[in-house]
Amino acid sequence: MRTGQISVQSENIFPIIKKFLYTDQEIFIRELISNAVDATKKLTTLSRVGEFEESIENCKIEVSFDEKAKTLTISDSGIGMTEEEVEKYITQLAFSGASEFAEKWKDKDPEQMIGHFGLGFYSAFMVSKHVSIETKSFQKGSTAVHWDCDGATSYNIGKGKRKKRGTDVILQLTDEDAETYLSKWKIRELLRKYCRFLPVPIVFYDEDINNTQPIWTKKPAELNNEDYKKFFEELYPMQEASLFHIHINTDYPFNLTGVLYFPKVTEAIDNRQNRVQLYCNQVFVTEDVKDVLPEYLVLLKGVIDSPDIPLNVSRSALQSDSNVKKITQHISKKVSDKLAELFKDDRVDFDSKWEYLDLFVKYGMVSDEKFSERTKDICLVKTTEGGLHTIQEWIDHAKINQTDKNAETVVLYTTDMTVQHMNIKAAKDKGYEVIVLNGPLDTHFAGWVEGKFEKVKFRCVDGGPMDQLIEKEISIESALTSEQQKSLEDSVKIVVNELAFEISVQSLPPQDDFISVHRSEWERRMEDMAKMGQGFPYGDMGLKKQTMVVNSNHALASKVLSTEGNDRNELLQYCMDLAMLQRGQLQGESLERFLKKAQGFIGA
Ligand code: ADP
Repeated sequence: MRTGQISVQSENIFPIIKKFLYTDQEIFIRELISNAVDATKKLTTLSRVGEFEESIENCKIEVSFDEKAKTLTISDSGIGMTEEEVEKYITQLAFSGASEFAEKWKDKDPEQMIGHFGLGFYSAFMVSKHVSIETKSFQKGSTAVHWDCDGATSYNIGKGKRKKRGTDVILQLTDEDAETYLSKWKIRELLRKYCRFLPVPIVFYDEDINNTQPIWTKKPAELNNEDYKKFFEELYPMQEASLFHIHINTDYPFNLTGVLYFPKVTEAIDNRQNRVQLYCNQVFVTEDVKDVLPEYLVLLKGVIDSPDIPLNVSRSALQSDSNVKKITQHISKKVSDKLAELFKDDRVDFDSKWEYLDLFVKYGMVSDEKFSERTKDICLVKTTEGGLHTIQEWIDHAKINQTDKNAETVVLYTTDMTVQHMNIKAAKDKGYEVIVLNGPLDTHFAGWVEGKFEKVKFRCVDGGPMDQLIEKEISIESALTSEQQKSLEDSVKIVVNELAFEISVQSLPPQDDFISVHRSEWERRMEDMAKMGQGFPYGDMGLKKQTMVVNSNHALASKVLSTEGNDRNELLQYCMDLAMLQRGQLQGESLERFLKKAQGFIGA
């Protein structure tokens, strides 16, 4: 046995490594098992080219621990190492890799790094006070080698005791880490998390940990729907089945495999639990893929595996990485192609799934120009009657009846069929049709369509009287003189809170409501944007005004004018309460006053 010195400037590297990934220490297991997998796969390669003739069947990686001795051992039957190789790969190479890593990251925030890749063998020192290796090379006549190091700068190397080809890495855990890691449950959990789909069998106390040939490593032609279903259940036990899947299998100009599942997307956008998992050559990296995938794609489930996504860079560097960009564009294209295919192949089935696709497709459309180009012809809108139409189909249809005097086609929409029931009815009375836009992104969506399609505007049915929402050539004469109109307006102002309402006396068809309350399209959209966290804090700026439209042609207008004093106020008050009731906004004292009056009518 002889002793060696690791390197001159090494005094500070172990402490850095040790404390470095404090929150993510557990990745040492991934790093060590990845090495064992590589060592086993190298043997397979050698066997294939005829440089290794023994049987390579039943090569597996075993993980075991000794609670008393506080050791954790990872054993493989891979290529092993000769003494020179241990010197070269472990002492020099692995060490220089680790110091390079520590150097690069010492002043940086470890949270900034995706998956904490690149630390390699020395990550063992994050949890150990002493690490030893027992190894024997596959080469004929090689002798076993022992290496050990206590985390300081010197190491011992000499004759080992391993009888068979392969490597044992034995970690003597620190007392604190022993408490964390030396439990069957904990180790099993880590193995399942990081190693579940590694290509070499991993055995932990007679339990097979991994599926060595996960579905994404196979060719789509070898698989049927049942296989995809089973894999989904394996990834997300107890979860509702997905709508369909996409198998990705590309090796040029980058390597990318994976199976993505399309879940029923209905819930709020922020729920990113159980979404896409990122792997690198079957090694689990992370399920926090928001820096790799654009947000709308994060709504999907499944696995993507790519050795071409750089993992030892910062999260911000990742987003601007050209490979990552190409990869996400590729995924986005695959997803939109799949949607287009479903639409084309079976429109009825596509329509039946739309309620679960709606949010996803719109999210993609408003956030990714290319995606929107590919999906705009399959994005559907739903009418209040339940009919589904593409945007173009709907615009063409609305054009016929709902084009205003400026040749703009007005798409009428409702955000709430119950609350806006009367407004929808008013639209239908005019022969107009209304679509339902009640999703969290629909304001953006409306804006997007207006920007894409010429001479199209979206108007909420409660945004004003119908004749104002879709203005036609015909203008209606007022039944009142301008003095009478002024007098009516002044009377309304006496009873209404002008801070909350904009008052507008208009000449509308006599059959329209006498008083109606509306929220302008602009106000609605600003409020909606503010809710989504964009723009100014709308609610606090006192802009939350509604418009009170008074129809000067309604019979009640003349009645009000012919009533004097307090009776006039009361009549107007009652009409206003009716308008508020119609909007579902009559509350508190106003409601009490209104009910009293109504009860008075029936003598209650
Ligand atoms: P990396 O795996 O990125 O090369 P590591 O620090 O993890 O860096 O390992 C350094 C080298 O040590 C490996 O490239 C390999 O040659 C050798 N090595 C590590 N673990 C094993 C093992 N279990 N069997 C054989 N060789 C190993």
